[in-house]
Amino acid sequence: MGSDPRIEIAKAMPMREVIERLPLEGLRRDGRELVGPCPRCGGRDRFGINLDRGLFLCRVCGAKGDGLDLAQHVLGCDFKGALDHLAGAAIEVDPAELARRKARARAERARQEAEAARYREAAIRDAATIWSSARSPAASPVVEYLAARAIRLRELPKSLRFKPDHPYVRKIGGRLVTLHRGPCMIAAIQGPDGRLAAVHQTWIDLSKPSAKAEIVDPETGEAFPAKMVRGSKKAGAIRLGGDPSAGVLVMGEGIETTLSARVIAPLGPAVYWAAVDLGNISGRMLPPRNSGQPDPADDRAFVPPPWVRRLVLIQDGDSDPEATRAKLLSGLRRAQSAIPGLAGEIVHPGAGRDLNDLLRELGDKPGRTEESTT
Ligand SMILES: [Zn+2]
Repeated sequence: MGSDPRIEIAKAMPMREVIERLPLEGLRRDGRELVGPCPRCGGRDRFGINLDRGLFLCRVCGAKGDGLDLAQHVLGCDFKGALDHLAGAAIEVDPAELARRKARARAERARQEAEAARYREAAIRDAATIWSSARSPAASPVVEYLAARAIRLRELPKSLRFKPDHPYVRKIGGRLVTLHRGPCMIAAIQGPDGRLAAVHQTWIDLSKPSAKAEIVDPETGEAFPAKMVRGSKKAGAIRLGGDPSAGVLVMGEGIETTLSARVIAPLGPAVYWAAVDLGNISGRMLPPRNSGQPDPADDRAFVPPPWVRRLVLIQDGDSDPEATRAKLLSGLRRAQSAIPGLAGEIVHPGAGRDLNDLLRELGDKPGRTEESTT
């Protein structure tokens, strides 16, 4: 079986072609992915196929893998059955035909990559338009939104801006729908070269207990998160200020957690960056699941800039501490292999809590402001 030339053919087959050969239903396009119900365990949007990477994942039953794995998952067959389905029954394959198929697969991959690059460039242009049309957050609802989380800073970071009437647009059923408009905190996500690569948007509604807008599709009643990224966030970060003199970088997932760390400032001089999501800290991991070992082939994962001597990653209270820990470990190890001698640690404020909960408790005590601790 190991020498069966059909394996190479099936593995070289673009994901788009694999999908055409399978009875998959109800998938819709979401950026560079197809998203929908899992063919095994159902649901609405737990199942995703990444066309660029040629991989699929079900977040609930955990099935994942490449095109051959997908064929097994959908058809409920074994490896040989999937191979027969994708590459035809075992017959002698003419070397010329094999070469033709490989060339076609290469061309399809190049086309796919070019399309992904075009999509990314358009998203980065959108991000630049949003950023340049936003204004300083001074005396805006952004100040109150952060104050509702006990985050009070003398001066907000330059990476935060404000738009008073920003539309919340989502693709639903293939068309763009504006589900909401209103005040929005805009955060700049800067790539490793310092250039704007994406914006992180948080729609604010100060009348709600969370101070975030509640966004609901009026037709289906489906609720959507009040936060959305536009652009290319890979390897980027929201740079939330601080003091670089000691070479310490403190990195949390969200803006609120990271700013909470900056206000509490237990570490002395440090710079505070938000990674936007855990996947961006961890990058791709090697198998098995939750290995905590970074995949060195992932060249688009976050690595700290070379001036960093000590990296502190903040672990939030999370429903899945094992997965969270593994992602942070992967990020730490990736950083340590990029910067020889880098000191690193993972800190967390206790089970089921995040740093902002801690800050809100501290916030009741007088004198805990940024000025008194830095
Ligand atoms: Zn599933």
